[in-house]
Amino acid sequence: MINMEIVVMKFGGTSVRDESTRIHVFKHVRREVAAGYKVLVVVSAMGRAGEPYATDTLKGLIEYHSSKKETDRLLACGEIISSIVMSDLFQSNGLKSTSVSPQELGIKTDENYNNANILHVEPDRLLELFGGYDVLVAPGFIGVAPDGNITTLGRGGSDTSAIALGSALGAVFVDIYSDVEGVMTADPKLVKDARLLKKISYDNLIQLAARGAKVIHLKAIGLAKQKKVSLRLRGTMAEQIGTYVVDESVNTLSLAYQNGYSRYDLENVMQPIEHPLLSRQGGGWYASDMDVEQVEAYLADQGITFARTENYVKVTWYNQQRNPMEVTFYVEGNKLVDTINFLHYNLI
Ligand code: ADP
Ligand code: ASP
Ligand code: MG
Repeated sequence: MINMEIVVMKFGGTSVRDESTRIHVFKHVRREVAAGYKVLVVVSAMGRAGEPYATDTLKGLIEYHSSKKETDRLLACGEIISSIVMSDLFQSNGLKSTSVSPQELGIKTDENYNNANILHVEPDRLLELFGGYDVLVAPGFIGVAPDGNITTLGRGGSDTSAIALGSALGAVFVDIYSDVEGVMTADPKLVKDARLLKKISYDNLIQLAARGAKVIHLKAIGLAKQKKVSLRLRGTMAEQIGTYVVDESVNTLSLAYQNGYSRYDLENVMQPIEHPLLSRQGGGWYASDMDVEQVEAYLADQGITFARTENYVKVTWYNQQRNPMEVTFYVEGNKLVDTINFLHYNLI
């Protein structure tokens, strides 16, 4: 077999959204090819909700009557379109490139449609294709179930595709490109003074992703740690590598937030409340909107009446300095930007 060094480059929806951003993607890929690497490019669907081939747009084409299996087949179209468009662009600009199909990718998953788990990756077909091409463009977010049907890996799952493929191919590094420079002290879309973290440990990045910082898919970073994948996060519009993810302890100070919480104000509480899905803060109780059914069944069972208010956000101040600590609290959605900027200015 030819001796080749492979790198994986993953580009999210905003990086491949239109011609002006795609040309930046091409330049990053050309640089790695010129450095002598075989390149696996993993792409997400093009753009964001409202743009024609974006995941949320495709999702909006159907109501509630389709099965999860059919929904996955529909959503996968977004990544498949993107992979062919990108490979075409690379070829027009002189790179030896081809797109690969979901079946050729070799990502085998369980049958948990909409949020499938990767069981294993068979990289043989990709390795064979690298014999004839310098660049392979893979649709991210997609797997194949044991019966041959298409599955998807959960929202944001293209990051996980990149890590799983990088690990199976023994890639020298996996670079995740997006519309921000790397991992920052807070979401730079809300906090304009947010600073770039040049280094972060796998564990701290897992903590951040789990607390809502969607700069990388939680499953992706867990897998990267487990497989010891050399991972970097960087901006499509930037030249430099933004953040190196390292296997050593690094002091990190950051803010993360997660939407989708409700506040409960309770009456007739006769006994202490102990429920894993309810958190107390000040006079209120808070629960994720996903857990509302279970929480309300519990409250009814305890004979507690309640008023529920939606649109709260969970904010986490995360301090991995000398004395690790974490503070979590809830704010009304419309106070999030002010709150997070105030905290960033004073504490980070
Ligand atoms: P892609 O579509 O390329 O996968 P995502 O939207 O999934 O990109 O992730 C990048 C986004 O993550 C940024 O646009 C930013 O708003 C958000 N983000 C949240 N927290 C952070 C953080 N701490 N550092 C960097 N980006 C963050
Ligand atoms: N396109 C998919 C999503 O929007 C996967 C991804 O972007 O990683 O969730
Ligand atoms: Mg993402």
